[in-house]
Amino acid sequence: MDDFTGKNILVLGGSRGIGAAIVRRFAKGGGKVAFTYAGSKDAAEALTGETRAEAIRTDSADRDALIATVASRGALDVLVANAGTLVMGDPLTLEADAIDHMIDVNVRAPYHAAVEAARKMPDNGRIIVIGSVNGDFMPFPGGAAYALTKSAVQGMVRGLARDFGDRAITVNCIQPGPTDSDMNPANGPMAEFMRSFMAIKRHIRTDEIAELAAYIAGPHGAMMTGAMHTIDGGMGA
Ligand code: NDP
Repeated sequence: MDDFTGKNILVLGGSRGIGAAIVRRFAKGGGKVAFTYAGSKDAAEALTGETRAEAIRTDSADRDALIATVASRGALDVLVANAGTLVMGDPLTLEADAIDHMIDVNVRAPYHAAVEAARKMPDNGRIIVIGSVNGDFMPFPGGAAYALTKSAVQGMVRGLARDFGDRAITVNCIQPGPTDSDMNPANGPMAEFMRSFMAIKRHIRTDEIAELAAYIAGPHGAMMTGAMHTIDGGMGA
């Protein structure tokens, strides 16, 4: 178990799913954890009750509010930009505003949050963005805009790794494949279809993603930076 005792950690989008698992993992490791959420107040309060992590209502689509929240946390040792949305369907009929909102949450928010966090982050700090295997490939129709957002964060991670490398701050992207959450439930209507692309045909558990985040954030992750860490059950094999 990596020791995060006393580490100042912020998880964007921590009320449910992968983000909540990451909050649990860092809290279990002794971190001083805060997380943001947008709509799921009850889930956020329950997670606070369970982990003692601090819940902060901040919509990642509101750039200035997000920057203010990151700034308010002081010198963060770890930032995890997890909040994300998924809009899928025929690009000829999808609402333009829904696509732009997804780009705001999945791309603009991680960028501005990462830059704001880096202002006060100590040497050896960690910035982790939750991307997707769809940053590398899009094996079915309807996901062009989502894939756009997950490819965009790859470029950001590479660039910021260069920008902050002189302070030994690492910047990494975790790229999950199908992971059991509200976004992609293991028993949902799309579940079998999703598993058909995987070498190991089960949904990934959120705690499996959280363990990878803990490794990257821990002392053994010091020389991993500017990298995409895929955990997809062989979806891309
Ligand atoms: P869920 O929909 O289960 O949870 C999303 C989390 O993000 C919630 O805590 C939600 O909070 C938060 N969130 C969403 N929009 C906002 C916003 N505007 N501001 C603040 N918080 C927000 O999704 P997952 O846990 O499955 O996904 C987490 C990340 O992992 C996303 O970036 C997603 O793209 C990525 N991913 C997921 C995969 C999967 O198969 N599940 C596969 C590959 C990548 P609230 O409910 O309070 O709004």
